[in-house]
Amino acid sequence: MIKFNNSLISAQEIDISQIPVVSDDGLNLDFETKKEIFYRLLEAHRLAKANVEVGNITNRGFATYVCTNRDKWSLGTNFNNSRNDISSVCGERSAILSAYNHALVSYMKNPQNGFDFKIKYLCMSSNIDINEYYDFIVPCEDCLSWLNTNRCFDENTLIFSFVRKSDGILKISATKLADLLPYKTVITSNNYFENKPVNYTEKAQKSAVEQKIDALIIKKMLSKTHELYKTQNLANISGQNIAASILFDDEILTSNKIDWTKRWFVEPLEHICAKAIQKTNGKLFIKAICYFGDEYNNSDIKDGVVSIKTLGRIRQKHATCDTILILNLNNEILVTTVGEYLPKKFVQGYKI
Ligand SMILES: [Zn+2]
Repeated sequence: MIKFNNSLISAQEIDISQIPVVSDDGLNLDFETKKEIFYRLLEAHRLAKANVEVGNITNRGFATYVCTNRDKWSLGTNFNNSRNDISSVCGERSAILSAYNHALVSYMKNPQNGFDFKIKYLCMSSNIDINEYYDFIVPCEDCLSWLNTNRCFDENTLIFSFVRKSDGILKISATKLADLLPYKTVITSNNYFENKPVNYTEKAQKSAVEQKIDALIIKKMLSKTHELYKTQNLANISGQNIAASILFDDEILTSNKIDWTKRWFVEPLEHICAKAIQKTNGKLFIKAICYFGDEYNNSDIKDGVVSIKTLGRIRQKHATCDTILILNLNNEILVTTVGEYLPKKFVQGYKI
């Protein structure tokens, strides 16, 4: 255990053994681990505060302490050069990059020990004073889309943060990263045939009834999306062709992925939503989304067809947990909801 300057703790005389750990997964931490997590969260909190003090442009500080499977810890904070997407790096990504570089340097020095890089813990803090009330912190959708491969993470990766709700009690929240990521059990397909069986999840069934979306509308969305996938391949650089459509009012709009380079592209859902927002003068309410396309497959690591990043953007104003999501799988059409696809993120109300 490294020594921290814990004046803040001694001033408040926090008895760590009394701090509850809240976890949907029924996680139990032994005292030594809990103590370690507590100090790491506190140190990350201090870094986030310092980041705001020195003039982070968004005035919001986040910092993360990352622990790898080899028990190496690395700290990183959010870097906001300007307010645009590309010049911002969140605290967790910054810390992971730091951990990755450390691991690579130690591999360079001792290649005989091999290179095995997995993240065990992400301890995420913000600059908000721990005496105030706040919700737990988990990665934003940009980070989740960045994390959504099995390359550096596994089913056991845990995210910790402080939480203090209306009961006023400071707690440690523990969430499995896998619980925040999309369905890991389904892989979308680009193979489509007439009369493919359509299966609804219970929530999607309910949402379809409430929104008066019948089987015919779902088929229509799917065939329009499939038509676009077949006829307009503008994704001819990356080799990953994706088409998407949305249903709003009584209209279906479609768009496909447009490649600029192998990794720079216009994401189809974001593109259609932008068109629809203009058309509705900002009053867009999306009833259903359909995705169709190619999983970009690099060995067992899949980039995914559905954009977590775009779902994160539209959920702020234009979609809800109950917005229907239609996915073409190998032997069936799965009708689900965005709340089920991105568990927790759509229900917790956490704002980026
Ligand atoms: Zn983020």
